Amino acid sequence: MFAYSVGRSRFDSTPARHEAATLRDFARDVLRRRARDKASAGYVCAPFGNDGRRSRANAQPRAWLAIDADGIDPDAFVSWRLKLTGWRGFGWPTASSTPEAPRERVIIELSEPVDRDQGMALGALLTQDVEDGFGAAVRIDPCTYRAEQPCFLPLEGAQPFFLLGDPIDVPKWLAQVPPPRPAPPPATAEVAALADARMRYVVDQLGQAGLLTKPLANGRGYAVRCPWESTHTTADEPGATATALLFPAEANGWMGAFKCLHAHCAPRRLGDLLAVLRAASDRAAA
Ligand SMILES: [Zn+2]
Repeated sequence: MFAYSVGRSRFDSTPARHEAATLRDFARDVLRRRARDKASAGYVCAPFGNDGRRSRANAQPRAWLAIDADGIDPDAFVSWRLKLTGWRGFGWPTASSTPEAPRERVIIELSEPVDRDQGMALGALLTQDVEDGFGAAVRIDPCTYRAEQPCFLPLEGAQPFFLLGDPIDVPKWLAQVPPPRPAPPPATAEVAALADARMRYVVDQLGQAGLLTKPLANGRGYAVRCPWESTHTTADEPGATATALLFPAEANGWMGAFKCLHAHCAPRRLGDLLAVLRAASDRAAA
């Protein structure tokens, strides 16, 4: 028996609960709900209890798992499909799939229902299994392993496919789940060395570019002139510390951080700063 819920569109927060006696009925019900376009596509996800809202807390067990193959190299496509045929289920190309860049969603039957955590654990193993076989040639988006994550339904004209292998043997697979990893120590010597080297490079480059303003009063980093200051809406007062380079510390996972309080810079991270500095030093070297 397959329990699932179907949302009418991405905005539907109380998807209707359905049950199908067989995989064939499940596939038929899902595949008949074709959408005209991506915007109006409905979704399938786990069944929900309580008030029926699509949420993590309401998720109920389900005997299937959705794989979101978000990128498949065309050269690996046939092998990927062959791999899938070892399992039982069905799938369809996503709305953005093209022959040059195939993407697909696959519903895989499980030997027994799993709860949300088990589904995610199984999903991690599935992803590992695919990575072992395909490396980067097949990229899996792990989101759909979450019970409450919408798995969007096919568009009209999408060619579904059916997999006639075996359901995934849940007890056998779950027995392989590694024990939870202990919390990482504050910083391994390796991470610290890496973060230090990166930080030295950034400080050195900012210094050479004349962007290093002064050490922060709290000793946790440097005030810097923002490389993106031309995008700021307001100019900083002299001596302001709206833009800062922070040394490795617990709060930034011991990796160091870049912080600019100007709205345009909110999403910018240390990696963006590094990229700008590298590009500048490459230009200087050229
Ligand atoms: Zn900025």
